[in-house]
Amino acid sequence: MPTQPAPIKNPEVKFTQIFINNKWENSVSGKTFPTINPATAEKICDVQEGDKADVDKAVVAAKEAFKLGSPWRRMDASDRGRLLSKFADLLERDIAYIASLETVDNGKPYNAALGDMGLVIKCFRYYAGWADKNHGKTIPADGEYFCYTRHEPVGVCGQIIPWNYPMLMYSWKLAPCLCMGNVVVLKPAEQTPLTALYATSLLVEAGFPPGVVNVVPGYGPTAGAAISAHPGVDKVAFTGSTEVGQIVMQAAGATNLKRVTLELGGKSPNVVFPDVNIDEIVEYTNANAMTNMGQCCIAGSRTFVHADIYDEFVQKATSRAKRRTVGDPWTDVENGPQVDEEQFEKIMDLINSGKKEGAKLQCGGKRHGDKGYFIEPTVFSEVKDNMRIAREEIFGPVQSIFKFKTMDEVLERSNDTYYGLGAAVFTNDLNNALMYTQGVRAGTVWINCHEVFNAQAPFGGFKMSGIGRELGEYGLNQYTEVKNVVIKLPQKNS
Ligand code: NAD
Repeated sequence: MPTQPAPIKNPEVKFTQIFINNKWENSVSGKTFPTINPATAEKICDVQEGDKADVDKAVVAAKEAFKLGSPWRRMDASDRGRLLSKFADLLERDIAYIASLETVDNGKPYNAALGDMGLVIKCFRYYAGWADKNHGKTIPADGEYFCYTRHEPVGVCGQIIPWNYPMLMYSWKLAPCLCMGNVVVLKPAEQTPLTALYATSLLVEAGFPPGVVNVVPGYGPTAGAAISAHPGVDKVAFTGSTEVGQIVMQAAGATNLKRVTLELGGKSPNVVFPDVNIDEIVEYTNANAMTNMGQCCIAGSRTFVHADIYDEFVQKATSRAKRRTVGDPWTDVENGPQVDEEQFEKIMDLINSGKKEGAKLQCGGKRHGDKGYFIEPTVFSEVKDNMRIAREEIFGPVQSIFKFKTMDEVLERSNDTYYGLGAAVFTNDLNNALMYTQGVRAGTVWINCHEVFNAQAPFGGFKMSGIGRELGEYGLNQYTEVKNVVIKLPQKNS
């Protein structure tokens, strides 16, 4: 991995069309939509706006690529792995360009975009290795039979991804799906379509056959809804808001019962016991709440601090937030802008609700600068469990600090949410760490760390944070149909 390649500050936009059958096309409707640079609020370019008619074409192409006897179906699994490895190499070759394009389209600091790309490349390499290893079993079934399972691809996979980690979500969706031999119709978020389109051009260079991956940029209620309701789509994988996750699942249920995996919102607790080094944990919890401008499904948006250290912790967390650097994403800042005006307004509304409902604003709470969608790092103390900032996903740079006294109390309050994505506990007491870990209802628990992701380990939510797991060996199950084959034998022997 090259270390910190220089950014390309005005990256040329090379692809703005719909990608079907390894070719670039205009939308059937002739419509386009603008994509905006959130650091300046200026338009970057117009992108072809796909909707149902384009999704229909993409599904036809995907089904053709998935036909028995097609180059993709006949390809050795090890060769699928080789294509994924080649694709990872091409992403690495173009890392500076793609990270720069991500900074322009999403607003995240260039260094953070580069960090995402490191994980993206590792994700494709990890699943490249799995392509010829996810095999079935022979089973000692009762009777005069030989019984085995085949692990087969599910078929046409619809994939709908969000704007907060555009390239990382692209890799989490595509890599396990392609490694298992599926075909894809993917819709990037309307706020951030550009990097997915560029990366997709590299799939052709890597050698993927036509129709295996099709990408339809467009809006959720049109293109996204067409994917989740399409009778020709066998499975839909969605990352985004819980509200839309419910719509996607309803559409799947109302049509062809396509398989559904969902990665949705969170309200992740970070619990700080009094035996910790406060300065160190202030750093962690600030990052957990504000990394990626707080636009993170596992953001530690509820910091529970033990009463014995509460006042000191609040004071230090406030001074840390004041030191958090915000500004031009091409410089070495920690925070860039929020992704768009809608998110900016939503976050400001929640900050105002916190003030009105009686939480104590320690710092921030205002727009930063006078152009683009920047928000000052914000800390609230004396937050109560029934306030909106305690219950709703803020998706902004806001740390809410709660006070607790006992393990039973903090466990109950941690779990008093519809969400269950992540949780972190900070303590040097092994009993506290393990008691909290077994009691909290969340898909990932971090002990004395947070926001650690690896391609090798599963990620997903309890409760309304989602259905299914991505990444790791577990992630393969979401893209596999298990076929049981039973063969009559003249006589069975042990
Ligand atoms: P969203 O759920 O509307 O968008 C996510 C993706 O779903 C996008 O590609 C969008 O086009 C698509 N989509 C929207 N409506 C659809 C529909 N009816 N059918 C199918 N697809 C549809 O999220 P948003 O409006 O961009 O953000 C709203 C909130 O969602 C945020 O404030 C945040 O709380 C949450 N969010 C969570 C994540 C996450 O990673 N869990 C990511 C983005 C947003």
